[in-house]
Amino acid sequence: MTIIAGPLRPVHMPYMSTYDFIVIGSGPSGRRAAIQAAKLGRSVLVVEKGRRVGGVSVHTGTIPSKTLRETVLNLTGWRERGFYGRAYRVKKDIRADDLMARLHMTLDHEVDVLEHQFARNAVTWVQGTARFLDAHRIEVSGADGEVHIYEGVRFLIAVGTRPFRPADVPFNGHSVVDSDEIVEIPRLPRSLTVVGAGVIGVEYATIFSALDVQVSLVEPRATFLDFIDHELIEDFLHQLRDRGMTIRFGSKVERIEMDEGHAVTVLESGRRLRSEMLLYAAGRVGATDSLNLESCGLTVDNRGRLSIDPKTFQTEVPHIYAAGDAIGFPSLASTSMEQGRIAACHAFGIPMPPAPEFFPYGIYSVPEMSTVGLSEQQVQSRGIAYECGIARFRETSRGHIMGLNAGMMKMIFALDDRRLLGVHIVGEGATELVHIGQAVLNLKGTLDYFIENTFNYPTLAEAYKIAALDAWNRMARLT
Ligand SMILES: Cc1cc2nc3c(=O)[nH]c(=O)nc-3n(C[C@H](O)[C@H](O)[C@H](O)COP(=O)(O)OP(=O)(O)OC[C@H]3O[C@@H](n4cnc5c(N)ncnc54)[C@H](O)[C@@H]3O)c2cc1C
Repeated sequence: MTIIAGPLRPVHMPYMSTYDFIVIGSGPSGRRAAIQAAKLGRSVLVVEKGRRVGGVSVHTGTIPSKTLRETVLNLTGWRERGFYGRAYRVKKDIRADDLMARLHMTLDHEVDVLEHQFARNAVTWVQGTARFLDAHRIEVSGADGEVHIYEGVRFLIAVGTRPFRPADVPFNGHSVVDSDEIVEIPRLPRSLTVVGAGVIGVEYATIFSALDVQVSLVEPRATFLDFIDHELIEDFLHQLRDRGMTIRFGSKVERIEMDEGHAVTVLESGRRLRSEMLLYAAGRVGATDSLNLESCGLTVDNRGRLSIDPKTFQTEVPHIYAAGDAIGFPSLASTSMEQGRIAACHAFGIPMPPAPEFFPYGIYSVPEMSTVGLSEQQVQSRGIAYECGIARFRETSRGHIMGLNAGMMKMIFALDDRRLLGVHIVGEGATELVHIGQAVLNLKGTLDYFIENTFNYPTLAEAYKIAALDAWNRMARLT
């Protein structure tokens, strides 16, 4: 449902109405900010250029990729293979239609919930592309050529990002695609080259590999996902290679060519990788170029991102806030929602305490990884004396029941005061399990929490106890 504020006018007679808060973009940061401001009794307008609300998160990013992953794990029987062997399949001959059916149901449901939240909280939303006319007015152009002008007391720029698409990559929407297009492919390829081993590239590479697609992952740098503890990455890489994925690090792409419908990735080394499909996933750029930011005195960096005050999310123009991927790191739906809420609270006089120091990072690859706090490399570079504890999921009774033969948890503790410094998990349930570590970390808890408390049995969370006892025994040997 699109609610248009005011009567529709022809282009030469723009209608103008005023709102306390105008939010541009309906992704996680925009929608959370809009609802927060509405709950504070403010009049709120959300402008969204997409046909439906939800942003990149709902339509091309977080939710589609996670739905695809869940469908693949279910239809392939991936989680049961520990018991029934690598050849086990729930459904033979999985097609793109099988994946799309569940995707569309999930997205429809997400959009329904969002529209209902907007309606319940009296948030008005209009479909159209917004651009600033000056620091207090925007012009919104609808798909049908209608133009409206809205005046705002405060603004939030929540326009997110779009895939980085270099001119020399022959994108065609079916055999050479970006990360927005891959969720709508009409047919599954038998081979896939993924260029870029960032979070998005790694997630899709491993999801397609779980579908028995022959995957090559190409990354120009010698390492990848450097913010994750290196021991975890080693374990992860071992699992990927073990199932036949080709991984080429330190491989710069010289050019991408088409040959009889196949994508040929030519590396600087001279090596050629031929595949039915190529996913180009080498970063994203801020979707700020159409906002006419000069008219309100704002500038962006070379990737189209805005700079803000990290405590308040105000730009250099104090009544204009920015949040979400348009401000850069960490570029997560989870953190974007919090940024939007903090910005709205600040805008309407309810300053929030700064966000806790540590937030979790979830990588929904197959297997999944999650991490919170400091990695062993960060602890070392800060010169903190520490000890680690490790638990393997196959050592837990729950792991036996589930047939897990991979997966590990690593915990890091300070030697002087036993404080928990970091938790790093690869394997089944990692993105859920990490929150126990996050709570203890942000509440400044120690090793003793895990030693003294009883955990449900049999659970994967028992790994916390096992890893903590491992660290405790090592620390005992040091004294
Ligand atoms: C493939 C993929 C997987 C991801 N997986 C995860 C994950 O598992 N967990 C996680 O936390 N994060 C994940 N992310 C990141 C997450 O999607 C983003 O961090 C989040 O969507 C950013 O939210 P945002 O508020 O910046 O708005 P976005 O979701 O980026 O939406 C911005 C909206 O603004 C609209 N817009 C842009 N310009 C205008 C304009 N001029 N006028 C009107 N509207 C405009 C766009 O149409 C869009 O709807 C993933 C991203 C991708 C691409």
